Amino acid sequence: MSPALSVLHDVFGYEHFRGPQEGIIDHVVAGGDALVLMPTGGGKSLCYQVPAIVRRDAGRGVTIVVSPLIALMHDQVGALLEAGVEAAFLNSTLDWPQTLDVEQRLSRGELTTLYAAPERVTTDRFIALLDGLHARGQLSLIAIDEAHCVSQWGHDFRPEYRQLSLLHQRYPDVPRIALTATADELTRADIVAGLQLQDARLFISSFDRPNIRYRIEEKKEPLAQLIRFIEREHLGEAGVVYCQSRKRVEEMAKALQDAGISALPYHAGLPAELRQQHQDRFLREDGIVMVATIAFGMGIDKPDVRFVAHVDMPKNIEGYYQETGRAGRDGLAADAWMVYGLQDVVNQRRMIDDGDAAEEFKAVLRGKLDALLALAEATDCRRVRLLQYFGEESAPCGNCDNCLQPPAVWDGTDAARKLLSTIYRVHQASGISFGTGHIMDIVRGKDTEKVRQFSHQQLSTFGVGKDYSESQLRGVLRQLLALGAVGVQRVLLDSGHSFDTLTLTEGSRPVLRGEQGVQLREATAQAAPKRARRAAAPPAAAANLDQNGQVRFINLKAWRAEVAREHNLPAYVIFHDATLAAIAERNPASTQELQGISGMGAKKLEAYGAEVLRVIAGG
Ligand code: ADP
Ligand code: ZN
Repeated sequence: MSPALSVLHDVFGYEHFRGPQEGIIDHVVAGGDALVLMPTGGGKSLCYQVPAIVRRDAGRGVTIVVSPLIALMHDQVGALLEAGVEAAFLNSTLDWPQTLDVEQRLSRGELTTLYAAPERVTTDRFIALLDGLHARGQLSLIAIDEAHCVSQWGHDFRPEYRQLSLLHQRYPDVPRIALTATADELTRADIVAGLQLQDARLFISSFDRPNIRYRIEEKKEPLAQLIRFIEREHLGEAGVVYCQSRKRVEEMAKALQDAGISALPYHAGLPAELRQQHQDRFLREDGIVMVATIAFGMGIDKPDVRFVAHVDMPKNIEGYYQETGRAGRDGLAADAWMVYGLQDVVNQRRMIDDGDAAEEFKAVLRGKLDALLALAEATDCRRVRLLQYFGEESAPCGNCDNCLQPPAVWDGTDAARKLLSTIYRVHQASGISFGTGHIMDIVRGKDTEKVRQFSHQQLSTFGVGKDYSESQLRGVLRQLLALGAVGVQRVLLDSGHSFDTLTLTEGSRPVLRGEQGVQLREATAQAAPKRARRAAAPPAAAANLDQNGQVRFINLKAWRAEVAREHNLPAYVIFHDATLAAIAERNPASTQELQGISGMGAKKLEAYGAEVLRVIAGG
């Protein structure tokens, strides 16, 4: 057995390497440089943790892990210590005596892995320490996590990352591994240039996340839909709900709490302390639902997030994929669930149109939004489209809403033409544009105050679409907006109020002339899939357990919560749900029977084996 595989078994308790891990680890153990592009949850940490241990055992000294996420270092080091690996961190949360202590242990060669923030790594003091280690051949490996922080184009730009190339210049013989979950080429080129990784071997994984089920529904009453979704499928489980604005975060969190769901708000407008407190609770407690703006996310490596919900549409597929990617890092089943509606399309389009950006930049933003709209309106496999967007070809996945329940399609061409000619005629007759509600009222022939005020019942298109339901017309309008066949214009009233009106565009013509058809998914919300799992359904990890197994699982979780509290660590650092479920299923009577359970490394077996058996027997 290779040393790397023994470390995987003995230290981490895992049976197999995942995907490309083995190739990466072999390359780095042998002293090569690597740039690793792997999706969230792909298993990047082991790509440097295993080499760190193997190289340390071979007498090569310490691995330095550069990470921008100070808040997470404590937990990451805690996880390594739990697995019996000598690890420590250096960052601004340590006081002076603690810092000195870590530095001394580093110099004495007692550490296998040291985590440090980028601004720390490049200080003279730290460089002097590294010089000392290097001179004695005890600087084994440099790992640069979240490597995309070097890129000015990303939203996580950290100027200190630019200075990390200094390490390469100073210690050219020390291998480096840089890792990121950001896939696009621009960022990749920035990483290579910024970190001087021209000679590194590039490892690109598939960005597919097969355990995530993508679902997109029509937005009707987002709050009620969300509560139903959580109650039916994820009661008591951890999840993230993304909203567009702070106000909406507050409203949603409150409403979920009122519905008896343990929800917490998170947005940039909250005091830093409260934000931190909510994040800690999310990481440490079981089953918290975080309602957040996109300010919440990077560095949340909680593995058991069972769903990510979007109640407002993100700006583009990159954002959507990054946010949904936070679900199911542990590889167990997870949901990416979004509701979207006409108003989302209108809002996003207008935000681009009204923005200050240069016209060519706006065109890029529109293109990106269109790709997301096409995904939302798609009647074929969502995953195929997502992966295609990132340049990967794939076959229908069998694990998205469209694969599981192919939606019925109807021909909306006639309705589209009626809507477009109404938009045209209304403008001609009244000299101004109107919003979606009024346009649909005219097409459906409704006798409203506004219709009478403008005498719109006299238009030739008044009532031509009586047979269409409002939801059908909404769907058509959404599709027309997605196609760019309808534009949005914001009108400012004297009163200071403003509203969005619909206008014709260049893209309207082919639809009006009948040259371009409009195909729509049937409104699916009424026919929402009846899910097998109900309120009392067991959590994903324990789904296959019989009744006694469930009881053991619950007891193990209660025990784990106690241990986690004592050690001041998140529960998943002690054992993953999947490990507890495997123990509950095996129902072991001896330490021997605990061996080989995934996630049960040698150190954990020694530390917790007896207690686990006691819990099992007592339960
Ligand atoms: P990333 O940093 O790429 O998002 P992590 O390194 O946090 O992913 O790994 C995600 C989860 O998968 C972690 O909980 C980790 O313990 C688990 N994991 C990684 N590699 C393996 C493996 N070979 N076998 C089993 N579990 C693994
Ligand atoms: Zn699919």
